[in-house]
Amino acid sequence: MQEAYRRVYVLRLGHRPARDKRITTHVALVARAFGANGFILAGVCDESVERSLKRTLDCWGGSMHYSCGVSGRRVVEEWKRDGGEVIHLTMYGVPVDEVIGEIRSSTRPKLIVVGAEKVERYYYDAADYNVAIGNQPHSEVAALAVFLDRLYRGRELYYPFYGAKLQIIPNPRGKTVIGGAGCK
Ligand code: SAM
Repeated sequence: MQEAYRRVYVLRLGHRPARDKRITTHVALVARAFGANGFILAGVCDESVERSLKRTLDCWGGSMHYSCGVSGRRVVEEWKRDGGEVIHLTMYGVPVDEVIGEIRSSTRPKLIVVGAEKVERYYYDAADYNVAIGNQPHSEVAALAVFLDRLYRGRELYYPFYGAKLQIIPNPRGKTVIGGAGCK
């Protein structure tokens, strides 16, 4: 599914269960829909995020490794130790167009790091790339979607999702959905 890359994981930092359930769920859903195959929630676990991701996988197919409550630093250290590269998305980084060719041409597993509020200095130093999707502040959801779309050159939108119970037949006006046992 991921062309030459066997592992493309997203590491979500700084999740605050009281405020970030919806946005972190969206980060996880974008990771899945745009071609990543792992999602790691650093520092905490949040049942509602996990439930939404699992329900989406069950109904709409595909597979995605999920883990939570782990130290973000340890994930980064182990990723690098195992030969992977770390790509931190930040508005302070280098423009995506300057580095995406190099990132795309490397077959090393990719860990894409996104923050919430302030990201610790450690991640800027540990990253192989600090990448900006424009140098304006916006959102981790948008940054991740644009980055993955650039990485896969738009092909991820057509990747198959095996095991789906629901499937949309594109329709210029109404909604056509087939299947759906146990899914709303
Ligand atoms: N000051 C933050 C920063 O370093 O990008 C903006 C915080 S924003 C609410 C949360 C996350 O969205 C950031 O940690 C970053 O991962 C992502 N983000 C926001 N704007 C971005 C941009 N222009 N380029 C890349 N990532 C961005």
